[in-house]
Amino acid sequence: MIELQQNYARLPAAFHAQMDPVPVKAPRLIAFNRELADFLGLDISDSTEGQLAALFGGNTVPAGARPVAMAYAGHQFGNFVPQLGDGRAILLGEVEGRDGLLRDIHLKGAGATPFSRGGDGRSALGPVIREYLVSEAMHALGAPTTRALAAVTTGEHVQREQPVPGGILARVARSHVRVGTFQYFAARGDTGSLSVLVEHVIDRLYPAARNADSPALDLLARVIAVQAALVARWLSLGFVHGVMNTDNMAVSGETIDFGPCAFMEAYDPDAVWSSIDRRGRYAFSNQPRIALWNLARLAETLLPLIDDDQQAAIEAANGALEAFPKAFDQAWVENMRMKLGLTEAREGDVDLAQRLLDSMHAGGADFTLTFRYLADAMDEDGDVGKLFELFSGREGIEAWLADWRARLDAEGRGDKDVATDLLAANPALIPRNHRVEQAIRAAEDDDDFSVFDRLRSAWLRPYDPAPGDADLIRPAAPDERVARTFCGT
Ligand code: AMP
Ligand code: MG
Repeated sequence: MIELQQNYARLPAAFHAQMDPVPVKAPRLIAFNRELADFLGLDISDSTEGQLAALFGGNTVPAGARPVAMAYAGHQFGNFVPQLGDGRAILLGEVEGRDGLLRDIHLKGAGATPFSRGGDGRSALGPVIREYLVSEAMHALGAPTTRALAAVTTGEHVQREQPVPGGILARVARSHVRVGTFQYFAARGDTGSLSVLVEHVIDRLYPAARNADSPALDLLARVIAVQAALVARWLSLGFVHGVMNTDNMAVSGETIDFGPCAFMEAYDPDAVWSSIDRRGRYAFSNQPRIALWNLARLAETLLPLIDDDQQAAIEAANGALEAFPKAFDQAWVENMRMKLGLTEAREGDVDLAQRLLDSMHAGGADFTLTFRYLADAMDEDGDVGKLFELFSGREGIEAWLADWRARLDAEGRGDKDVATDLLAANPALIPRNHRVEQAIRAAEDDDDFSVFDRLRSAWLRPYDPAPGDADLIRPAAPDERVARTFCGT
């Protein structure tokens, strides 16, 4: 029913371990993304729900497929682990999307592989629900991301702190190659495999790099550019990835591996949720710095391919890395201008945006709603009551509003146009953490997927709230707040 290509499986044996998913007892389809299936040209019109469950549960492997677990290494919280790899995931193969580009179809929770390192190769249902909801919301919010194609429950329990229902997520990516994939070969001194990997990634993601003087250096520059744009986008949405280990950074520039991720509510540059991030390495405002650190690790792996002369290679790689802060700052201020309804670049824009963030921080204001309610100031009555209510004190935001109005006036656009732009740039609906938790609790504790279903459809239209969405728009009440999130493991 699905015809898969085997581009990654055809790479040399060192790249992967060939194996089928380990079947599960009773796969049941709990979500299927028809729009994405359509985009991927999957022919599932004749398939029953049971067949889809068997497919995405890993019980039936499409004819001709050669599933593989991918090898990779990675720095986890700064410590290098020379072998990680897909310990609970399997790449089924690739399909061509309607845009003519290949996409991986990958099952997460598909059973133990040679990379499992003692783990059970499974995923609990909770993390499957989190990744489904948050990755699809990220897509709707305009951030490059892996996507969710389907989710199943397995009919089996997995042992975590206690037994919990198991789940499998079928996810889709432009590529699952990570910074850690490059590190895997570099750590083994396997320059031959590294150049095969570079060629594969260039073919797949960055064909224009093929004609550069140094394709490896050009590839590096392109990954740096897409990561700068990605992390700037995260910051414009209040997103904290949570585990930016080098094995969780895709060279495609897609957000990948949604573990203990969260969207912040009250603005806090030091926001951390992950239960394992005790030192705040992956805190909200640290993300650009960490991205650059990870990219430096990627650069190191590429040195032997950039230039035979090591010193020259280092200089070239450093030159590429130096572009990151500038690209990030540029992307950040562009995102902020959009969020503030500004169409022209002017000096002082960074400062204007930063002062709004500072007053949110001081006033404990909700990040998402502060931006969303800016549009109210453009109404005829200019009623900013809802906006002010988000802040514990008015002074900071009142003074800021006056400066912002003056800055908008200098562009001379009509209030209505500005309001329309503001509403299109600032979401009303984001995956608030307590809602994600509610969906997980209902599913894991009561086999109830109604919360999951409701969130799944509401978060597809973040900029376009409906009358029944009021409870999803508001921040968590104090007794609803989620202080910690946990990895899927
Ligand atoms: P993650 O925290 O999902 O980024 O995973 C880090 C590493 O641990 C990857 O190599 C995973 O494949 C592996 N891993 C995570 N959970 C499991 C599991 N339940 N069984 C086997 N390997 C796992
Ligand atoms: Mg991972």
